[in-house]
Amino acid sequence: MKHRFTVSEKDSEVQFHRVSQDLLTHNPKQGVNYWGGAEYPTMLIWAGRIYDFLRVLEGVVGHYPARMQSYLVGYTSGWNGAEVNARLLTDAPANDGKTRLLSSGSGILSGAGWGRCEIEYDDATGQVYWIFPGGTAIGLAARQEGRRDKPACPFVAGFVAGWTNRSLGMKIEFQESKCVSMGDPKCIFESVEFLRPKAE
Ligand SMILES: [Zn+2]
Repeated sequence: MKHRFTVSEKDSEVQFHRVSQDLLTHNPKQGVNYWGGAEYPTMLIWAGRIYDFLRVLEGVVGHYPARMQSYLVGYTSGWNGAEVNARLLTDAPANDGKTRLLSSGSGILSGAGWGRCEIEYDDATGQVYWIFPGGTAIGLAARQEGRRDKPACPFVAGFVAGWTNRSLGMKIEFQESKCVSMGDPKCIFESVEFLRPKAE
């Protein structure tokens, strides 16, 4: 069975108010925000600065190792995000909780301002796609810096991998096959069994 989860522009507005406003609480003594009852502080960060994280790493250790470091940070963020969100989902039917948790990722990403995405999941083959029709916020920030010949969003690839694996109980990785920073109209992340550099 193929599942397809989308966020309309109207849903994106609703999710913004929920994710970026209602679910944030402020500790005025600390001057620090918390999200969804999670014990770790949360911060709003310019997407351009997350892109800088990759660019600085690329300058220090080269492209593929840099990509993996960004991916690993994103992975933990996605896994923990799904963990917190699992507690917030009260409408999940008991027999379909995994798919419901996966589908909620699109609303969270849109509501947090990371990009509006569609998730496609084929439960027969296990293939999963996360498609951002207008690009991710990081990809759009990277595009401002000029066209790249490599994808700019390994942080998001890691994030969707962590979210997918926590939701579905799988151990898959994701590669970004299209990126707005390379001149593509979309950012597309597709599941792969192993993450290894392809020969040029
Ligand atoms: Zn991208």
